[in-house]
Amino acid sequence: MENSKSFILPYKIFIALLIITSTLCLSLILPVNLKLAQLVGLDKPEEKIINAATNNQQLVAQFQNAMEATLNEQFKRQSLLSAAPSSFNSKVIYEIKPIKNKKVIALTFDDGPWEKTTQQTLDILKKNNVKATFFVVGKALQNNPRLGKQIVADGHAIANHTWNHWYHFMNPQVAAFEIDKTTELIYKVTGVKTNLFRPPGGHLSNGLVAHAKNKKYATLMWSADSRDFQKPAPATMVNTVLKNARPGGIVLLHDGGGDRTNTVKALPQIINKLRQQGYSFVTIPELLEMQEKK
Ligand SMILES: [Zn+2]
Repeated sequence: MENSKSFILPYKIFIALLIITSTLCLSLILPVNLKLAQLVGLDKPEEKIINAATNNQQLVAQFQNAMEATLNEQFKRQSLLSAAPSSFNSKVIYEIKPIKNKKVIALTFDDGPWEKTTQQTLDILKKNNVKATFFVVGKALQNNPRLGKQIVADGHAIANHTWNHWYHFMNPQVAAFEIDKTTELIYKVTGVKTNLFRPPGGHLSNGLVAHAKNKKYATLMWSADSRDFQKPAPATMVNTVLKNARPGGIVLLHDGGGDRTNTVKALPQIINKLRQQGYSFVTIPELLEMQEKK
């Protein structure tokens, strides 16, 4: 009897110690505030279940909040990629005067996404580590959402070039449709809210820019026209761009809207030659951030 009693006592102490130690460990490991009593089973069973459920809900809520914060952060970053600083709201911009006359230049591509040539353009830009800006046509983006997504995933800025790419005069309702529907689709496809706009053909008085100004878009024109819409030989295109390149400039090129084979052929040369001259490539939002402050 003596023997079995002396065995039972240390055994009980051992179990008690085990419970206390594991409870302490668990309370350190678990991020939730579980009650000691719950773990050692002193609470009523129903209460335990309710408490455990509450803790689970708290955990899920914490996780959801963390996920939401991450997504918001990601969205903010992506949106910044395609947003002009507010000082450019409702302005028409052809080029900027960069701080310290820094040799920066922005390549812009219009009228896509276009199945073959947009992909080729993206491949060349990636290979050369160049970030650019794509002024997409709503209708074309609807046909090629994958390329729209890739433009953003590759770190380029995406911008609005209307839904139908019309040149004729548009009343306020039509102009609103052309611009708003395109911005909505860009958002739907890529998650990016752009405030960059370029009127087709650079027409400033057919109703589109009036709507863009009302809605505080920055209207982006260009300072160096590659004239690639005339499909010149690639060497001619390269020379035209180089002749018109200057710090703070905006280069107009096309990745869609027609046969852009020659633009694709000229692009690596345009990048190489500009780099040789000391230029670095920026997106439109990055370029606008570099505007010399008055
Ligand atoms: Zn265009």
